[in-house]
Amino acid sequence: MRLTRHAFTLIELLVVVAIIAILAGISLAVIPMVRHQAKDTKCNSNLHQVGLALAVYQQDNEGGFPYNLNNIKGPDGVLGEGADAVLLCPHDESKGQSSSFNRPPSWGDLSELFTPGCSYLFEASSHLLTDEEKGWTFADGTTWGSQGDTWAKAKQYQLNFGNSPSPSAFPASAFPLVRCFWHRTWGDDDHRAASPKVLNLAWDLSIYWSIPFWEHQANPSIPMP
Ligand SMILES: [Zn+2]
Repeated sequence: MRLTRHAFTLIELLVVVAIIAILAGISLAVIPMVRHQAKDTKCNSNLHQVGLALAVYQQDNEGGFPYNLNNIKGPDGVLGEGADAVLLCPHDESKGQSSSFNRPPSWGDLSELFTPGCSYLFEASSHLLTDEEKGWTFADGTTWGSQGDTWAKAKQYQLNFGNSPSPSAFPASAFPLVRCFWHRTWGDDDHRAASPKVLNLAWDLSIYWSIPFWEHQANPSIPMP
């Protein structure tokens, strides 16, 4: 049998080039999305490990919380090897050096809760409430912060009694213990954002997405600020 060599026609070549161009275009569009999701997943895993470490810390410290999350890493802390990376969200290009936690300044200054090398906002810190936070009023009318109250104490109270004027306990699965704001860039008005882009470790150690003003998401009768 005689074999004949078949040359590509110009049309066939153009079709191949067009298909390659389309596939390349799809890849270029998909790769950043996949990268973003991989970083979300790593942050989720970090928060999960932080939650386990906090649980162990509490067992060893009569239910108390540490001053900051650096207190749960080595050599004496609960987080083992690689603890430095566990406290950094992969979206955080400052590598834990931004005291704003990627929140706009207009949302209030929480820099007293910042420690270098940690991307995450730890809301149950044993840090004393600052003058700015003093005066929080909870659903039973109690005002906090007058006498050496800590963030941890105030948060425990908020969990149990809710926000004024909607007196009901928050579900522990919708009450943030540790928060990550690095998954998008926020504008001043985005605290009312409808799409949940803050990744949280909840009080019951589950992980969930919330809007910045999580109180409204947990209890819609609490109005947006
Ligand atoms: Zn994160």
